[in-house]
Amino acid sequence: MNATVHYRKNIDDEQSPSKKGMDATVMATQLRAIASNFDDKQHGIIRKGSKTTVERDTMSGKNKKLNLNRVSMPKQSPEERRHNFLEVACGYSEEQAIEEAKRCLQCKKPRCMEGCPVGIDIPNFIRAIRDGEMEDAVRIIKAKNSLPGICGRVCPQEVQCESRCVLEKKGAPIAIGRLERFVADWESRQDLSEKPTHLEEEGKGRPSAVQPPTGKKVAVVGAGPAGLTCAADLAKRGHKVTVFEALHDAGGVLIYGIPEFRLPKDIVRSEVDYVKTLGVEFELDSVVGRLVQVDELLNNGFDAVFLGIGAGAPRFLNIPGENLNGVYSANEYLTRVNLMKAYQFPKYDTPIRQGKRVAVVGGGNVAMDAARCAVRLGAEEVHVVYRRSEAEMPARLEEIENAKEEGVIFDFLTNPTRFVADDRGRVERMEVVNMVLGEPDASGRRRPVAEKGSEHMVDVDTVIIAVGTIPNPLVPGNTPGLETTKWGTLVVDDDGRTTRDGVWAGGDITTGGATVISAMGAGKKAAEDIDHWLREDGPWNR
Ligand SMILES: Cc1cc2nc3c(=O)[nH]c(=O)nc-3n(C[C@H](O)[C@H](O)[C@H](O)COP(=O)(O)OP(=O)(O)OC[C@H]3O[C@@H](n4cnc5c(N)ncnc54)[C@H](O)[C@@H]3O)c2cc1C
Ligand code: SF4
Repeated sequence: MNATVHYRKNIDDEQSPSKKGMDATVMATQLRAIASNFDDKQHGIIRKGSKTTVERDTMSGKNKKLNLNRVSMPKQSPEERRHNFLEVACGYSEEQAIEEAKRCLQCKKPRCMEGCPVGIDIPNFIRAIRDGEMEDAVRIIKAKNSLPGICGRVCPQEVQCESRCVLEKKGAPIAIGRLERFVADWESRQDLSEKPTHLEEEGKGRPSAVQPPTGKKVAVVGAGPAGLTCAADLAKRGHKVTVFEALHDAGGVLIYGIPEFRLPKDIVRSEVDYVKTLGVEFELDSVVGRLVQVDELLNNGFDAVFLGIGAGAPRFLNIPGENLNGVYSANEYLTRVNLMKAYQFPKYDTPIRQGKRVAVVGGGNVAMDAARCAVRLGAEEVHVVYRRSEAEMPARLEEIENAKEEGVIFDFLTNPTRFVADDRGRVERMEVVNMVLGEPDASGRRRPVAEKGSEHMVDVDTVIIAVGTIPNPLVPGNTPGLETTKWGTLVVDDDGRTTRDGVWAGGDITTGGATVISAMGAGKKAAEDIDHWLREDGPWNR
C-alpha cells in the first residue's frame, strides 16, 4: 500500500476544519500543516488500521486485540516553522483524541499511573475522553494537576507515564501527554462562566473545588511550576495564599525560558488565571530577599512560607573570551527572546543579535530551545556543540528530532576551548577540540576526554552557552537558618521542609535544574505537609 496516499486520506478524514471542537487558531495551524508537504517517514506517522496484535490477558484468560496505531499529532512543516514562532505541534482534534483514547486497555492495575509524579488517575480521564465526557476528563485531571495544558506540552511523558504503559512494550504506548493537552485545550475553549450553577451542583469544576477558609495565610515565593502548584493546592484546601514573584509575569521558566513555539504563553497565562480563580493573589515585581525578607513575611502575618525560586542563575564554561560581545548565556538569550519578545523587535523594544553563524553549547532542552530560536531569528547556520555523543544527550528525543528537521547541525564529541574577538571586541571565532568517550563517570555516562592536538577554529558570530543553571543565593543568603548543599540548593526533607521553622521549599531550588513535573510534584507534596502542619499546629521536627 502506498503509505503517503494512505496518510493523506487520514489527514482528510480526521482534520477537516468542519469537525467540531477545534478553535480558529488550532484550525488555522492544522490547515497550514496539511497544506505543507507532510511525509510519513519524516513525521513518524503510524497509519490507521496498519497495526494490531492479539495477546492473552493473564487475568481473564481471554484473548484481547491490541490496537498499536498511535494517533499521530500533526505539526507545522519544518520549512514553514523555521520562519515563525507559532506552536509547532497542532494538538489532537476531538475525533483524534477519542480514537487514541479508545486504544487504552483500562488496565485494572494501571502501570502508567506509577510514572506520574502528581498521581493523575490516567485510565479514568482517558475513559472519559473515550466516552465524550470531556468535562469529566477535566475534573479528573485537575483533581491532581492544576497545569495540564503545560504538562501536556512539555513533560517528558516518554520517560514517565508513557514509558510504563503496557503498550510501550509493543512500541505504541497510549499518547497520554497528547490526551492531557487535548483536555486542557478543550477546557480553555469552553465558556465555563456560563455554567457555574451546574458545576457547583454537580461538584465539578472550579467553584466547588475550594474548601471553606481556614484563616491561615501562606506566602509562596516564585511563580514557577513548583510555586503555582503549591499555591493552587493550598488554596483548594482553604488557605489564603499570596505568591511573590520577582518578574513582571507569572510562570517561571514556562514564561521566560521555554519558547512560544513549544509552549504558547497564552496557555501559561490561562493556567495562571485558573490558579487566580482559586483565590490565590499575586504580587509581581517582588524580589524576596531584597524587597522583603522571609523573616518579615513570617513576622507579618504569614503562617508558612514555600520557596519555589528555581535555579535560574546561568552556569558558564569558564574559558577565555566568554565575556565577549555576542556570547550569551542561554538564560539571557531566551529571556530576551521569550519574556521580552525580542523576536517581535521593533514592536517590542528588546534588541538581540540576529547572528548568521550561531553556536549553541550544550545538549539539553535549553540548548535545543536556544538553537531553534536562533533558526527562527534568521541564522544561516546553527550548530549545537556537544561534548558527548547523541546517545548521551539529555534533551527530549522529540525536541532533538524537531531541531534536526529545522536544519540545526549537531557537532557531537566537540568542546569549545576559547572564543576569539574581532577588532571591535565581538566574537568571530571559536576554538574547539574533538572529544572521545572514556570510562563512565558518577552520572553513569561515559566521560568525554579531549583528543590532544585536535584543536581547530570555526567561524561564529553568536555563541549561546547552555550548560546548565545554578540556584541564585539571594534568598538563602538572607534567611538565617536556611541550610544549603555544596551546590547551593536548599536542604529539605521528604516533605519539603527546610532547616528553618515554617519554611518549605521545592522544585529546582532543591534539586538543581530538573523538570516541570518534578517541580510540580514537589510543590504538591509540600502543600500537603503545610496543610497538615497548619491544621494540626504540629511540631516542626518530628
Ligand atoms: C529553556 C528551558 C527549557 C526547558 N524545557 C523543559 C521541558 O521541555 N520539559 C520539562 O519538564 N522541563 C523543562 N525545563 C526545566 C523546567 O522548566 C524547570 O525544571 C522548572 O521550571 C522548575 O520549576 P520551579 O518552579 O522550581 O522554578 P522556575 O520555573 O525557575 O520558577 C522560579 C520562579 O521564582 C522566581 N524567583 C526566583 N527568585 C525569586 C525571589 N528572590 N523572589 C521572588 N521570586 C523569585 C523566578 O523569577 C521564577 O519565576 C526547561 C528549562 C529551561 C530553562
Ligand atoms: S497502562 Fe496504558 S493501556 Fe493501561 S490504563 Fe494506563 S494508559 Fe491505558
